[in-house]
Amino acid sequence: MYWDKKAETLSRSSLEKLQIKKLKQTLKRSLRSTFYRKLLKEAGVSFDSIKDVSDIREIPFTTKQDLRNTYPYGMLCVPKEKTIRLHASSGTTGTSTVIFHTPGDIDNWTELLARCIFATGCDSHDVFQNMMTYGMFTGGLGLHYGAEKVGMLVIPASSGNTKRQIKFMRDFGTTVLHITPSYLLHISDVLSKEEKIDPRELNLKAAYIGAEPHSETTRKKLEAIYGFHAYNSYGLSEMNGPGVAFECTFQKDMHIWEDHYIVEVIDPETGKNLPDGQEGELVLTTLSREAMPILRYRTRDLTRICKGNCPCGRTHRRIARIKGRTDDLLIVGGVNVFPSQVEHIIMKIAEVGTNYEIHLQKKGALDHMTVKVELNSKMFSGDIGFLNSIREKIAHALKDEILIRPTVELVAPGTLEPSMGKARRVYDNRKKL
Ligand code: ADP
Ligand code: ZN
Repeated sequence: MYWDKKAETLSRSSLEKLQIKKLKQTLKRSLRSTFYRKLLKEAGVSFDSIKDVSDIREIPFTTKQDLRNTYPYGMLCVPKEKTIRLHASSGTTGTSTVIFHTPGDIDNWTELLARCIFATGCDSHDVFQNMMTYGMFTGGLGLHYGAEKVGMLVIPASSGNTKRQIKFMRDFGTTVLHITPSYLLHISDVLSKEEKIDPRELNLKAAYIGAEPHSETTRKKLEAIYGFHAYNSYGLSEMNGPGVAFECTFQKDMHIWEDHYIVEVIDPETGKNLPDGQEGELVLTTLSREAMPILRYRTRDLTRICKGNCPCGRTHRRIARIKGRTDDLLIVGGVNVFPSQVEHIIMKIAEVGTNYEIHLQKKGALDHMTVKVELNSKMFSGDIGFLNSIREKIAHALKDEILIRPTVELVAPGTLEPSMGKARRVYDNRKKL
């Protein structure tokens, strides 16, 4: 099911021609900001030399720090009276960055979300409960507009107040959720333990999960708990927010809308472009943004461009599940570990519940990792022998994957801080005295 069949199935050559045309427009527009005027002049970028999409490599990168340095209006390319909204990033890795939108920007963003929703087989027959935080964060209003555009009945529930969320789901027969995977896991606990409701008895058919890294095993676990399809949704405020890349019904990697973004993957160390299929840092360029175009933005998110066509017929390439941010990399005793690797392993284990934390501390001169894992309430028993065997199973599986053997601490369901938005997974206490 396509929202905009022509745009979604453009031939690769037409898509590339369109990208070059829109890139030139974007460059011209970007010159209206003091930041890009200086950057492009210093780099000696000539618009006439752009003949191929790969010529974009002549343009220097833009970083999150650049956005912070030019805060608040330094990258604005239209007079303030032409803008109608601003959004900010969540500030996961420092000061939030701010993005401005014209009416045209909001329309384009909304169109992309309408495409995403149709790509998952949902439409005006659905009741959509948006459990992402409303406000400056893009997860709330962003998807809200897209869902209204396709004619869904939208419940702007925002995040938190779990009992009320459950009441809404039941009263209104919600069919589609938008939510972080960590909050969705938490809700399943509240449903079964406190409300005594089997999540499968709700009317849910789909959930759009995103805003934070999560593993394929977590998706599978959520699908088994709720009996719905969970679709991975990727976006970042600098590129609008949700709607940048989304899974279609084939649930195999996320289509990235290449008529609105140029996609590159680079080696984060050298900045050199990597071929399709190789994992590196995602770099994105807006092709439609009026108020605040951003060129070659280093997202710090790690992924790869997937090879091959998707059976759904969309010609826009796909990116793989995000492994995490370059900043998420933990170096533990000289070994590189991504929190997503830990999650991937533990969520496979049936006795594991819905929450976990990674704690790092120094033991003498050595780094030490402790993984706190909530047990599944159905499997929970006080039997020491049983608990020891689970602990051993988890530690062993982790050692196989991450090459270090953490201490595994098992805790009762509901012990760890639940997440209502982006979960905090890592507590690094090594730097403290
Ligand atoms: P912040 O960078 O402060 O968290 P945003 O709210 O704009 O600000 O969040 C965007 C970031 O969230 C992305 O750069 C990425 O790291 C993460 N993210 C968003 N969607 C996903 C997803 N589906 N999988 C993994 N990470 C995601
Ligand atoms: Zn597809």
